[in-house]
Amino acid sequence: MTWSGLLLVITTLLPSGPADDAGGTTWRWPLRPAPEVLRPYDPPAHPWEPGHRGVDLAARPGQAVYAAGPGRVGYARDLAGRGVVTVIHGGLRTTYLPVRATVRPGRAVTAGTRIGVVEGALGHCGQVACLHWGLRRGLSYLDPLILVGRAPVRLLPWWDDDPERRVIHSPYDIYH
Ligand SMILES: [Zn+2]
Repeated sequence: MTWSGLLLVITTLLPSGPADDAGGTTWRWPLRPAPEVLRPYDPPAHPWEPGHRGVDLAARPGQAVYAAGPGRVGYARDLAGRGVVTVIHGGLRTTYLPVRATVRPGRAVTAGTRIGVVEGALGHCGQVACLHWGLRRGLSYLDPLILVGRAPVRLLPWWDDDPERRVIHSPYDIYH
């Protein structure tokens, strides 16, 4: 497949609304209503460099946080003074912080299950509170906005697990 052909496929496969996979899974924003994106996904050119491996969503302290899709809670704990919740969705994993968890590891969730509330900790977004939302497949960080049909095509390609090897993944790969 040529590069232009591949891009065409990627463009065609990018969902225009809430994304459904082959099993009919609907992904949702972790906040309601759909939040403003304060800071986009900005992966580093190399895995060892700093970047932004997720998106920051405008949030207020105490606001409810919901699982973006069905799965089970991976962990819900304090990490360096901030509450972190992860949800495992098959081969994908979403991360939410800072969140004071109201669920325990192993708990089954569906898209929209309340998993906690935004903590008041400032810092990651300066003087405003925000929710950092991350998406991983294995060791690869992805743009979580793909899940809600908001990831621009320009963010592809992204990292494979092997830092020495860059490969193209399409949204099709994520859902299948
Ligand atoms: Zn962030």
